[in-house]
Amino acid sequence: MSPKPILLSPPHLGEAELEYVKQAFATNWIAPVGPHIDAFEAEFCQAVGSPHAVAVSSGTAALHLALRLLGVGPGDEVLCSTLTFVATANPILYQGATPVFIDSDRTSWNMDPNLLEAALAQRARRGTLPKAVIVVHLYGQSADLDAIGDLCDRYGVPLIEDAAESLGATYRGRATGTVGRIGIFSFNGNKIITTSGGGMLVTADPALARQAQFLATQARDPAPHYQHSQLGYNYRLSNVLAGIGRGQLAVLKERVAARRRNFAAYHQALGTLPGISFMPEAAYGTATRWLTCLTVDETAFGCDRDTLRLALEAAQIESRPVWKPLHLQPLFAGCEVVGGAVAADLFRRGLCLPSGSGLLPDELERVISLVARQYHLARAATVLC
Ligand SMILES: *Cc1c(COP(=O)(O)O)cnc(C)c1O
Repeated sequence: MSPKPILLSPPHLGEAELEYVKQAFATNWIAPVGPHIDAFEAEFCQAVGSPHAVAVSSGTAALHLALRLLGVGPGDEVLCSTLTFVATANPILYQGATPVFIDSDRTSWNMDPNLLEAALAQRARRGTLPKAVIVVHLYGQSADLDAIGDLCDRYGVPLIEDAAESLGATYRGRATGTVGRIGIFSFNGNKIITTSGGGMLVTADPALARQAQFLATQARDPAPHYQHSQLGYNYRLSNVLAGIGRGQLAVLKERVAARRRNFAAYHQALGTLPGISFMPEAAYGTATRWLTCLTVDETAFGCDRDTLRLALEAAQIESRPVWKPLHLQPLFAGCEVVGGAVAADLFRRGLCLPSGSGLLPDELERVISLVARQYHLARAATVLC
């Protein structure tokens, strides 16, 4: 009998979600409007310390709205982290704008402020500044927001934070997503908390929040008939799903703690294996460790990342390479990149281990012993050669 598969980051439901969903059914609020949405937005504001939050159908929708709110359009440039999921940059293309990718630094794996500075300075000299900067908080770790925020302020370019993976993470005590002009979060099934699909846009600016809500509901003008003067979207979250979100938000702290415990267990057991290095945690904040990530040095470990990944796969353990940088994606062929070698190296050697908040101790043990076994097998093979 083959062992039960261990997944990378499956949904982890709590106790209250079903009650909230039942309430939605009992009161017939089965619509993208209703009391759960209002409550979810209010509770989310509390959780991250943001004055305004707008619940939407996905993190991608929230990013798209953010770009629309900032007036990004054809011909505009948007500077964007290269080491991320494609959803970060797709909305730049939706708007007909041009992404310019910025490499990571090695201390946080996130946007390198020095490279951002170089890109902004070059564009200022040329007299055409980008319309926005999108910074990603990768795998739940905050980017260096003071440095990046100061640069954006200095050049007058608005900052969007893609906090899809970092709900519950902090930067110098503040929640990621609340430092820039607009922040976005995702409640996709694989994220820290889930509504099966959903997202949130946060901002301190009440006018931006109002406009986000307006655009997300087909940009309906205030009139008894259906009147529209602007292009809108159907991006609102369902009241049923907002009910799930309320239950999930109530256990956010436990979910983050569980993911950090996964990381600690992996780190303790595997941190001293030659050739294995874990994603560092920057001193300025607390990461969620949404996914535990490591890099494999082939020479020291004895085999490369892919061999290790396939060995895990053969044992029914799902692991994934670190995100393929966007500047290496065929979709973005020809787009400018500032640097790029760090992200490319992390992609080549990086691996994400099973990291769900519901991961059981014996499952953790299975992953750990498999990685250790692969090291010993690979060493033995190298010695023989
Ligand atoms: C998941 C994710 C998104 C997109 O969120 P969806 O809710 O799936 O649309 C955007 N950016 C990053 C970094 C993500 O991991």
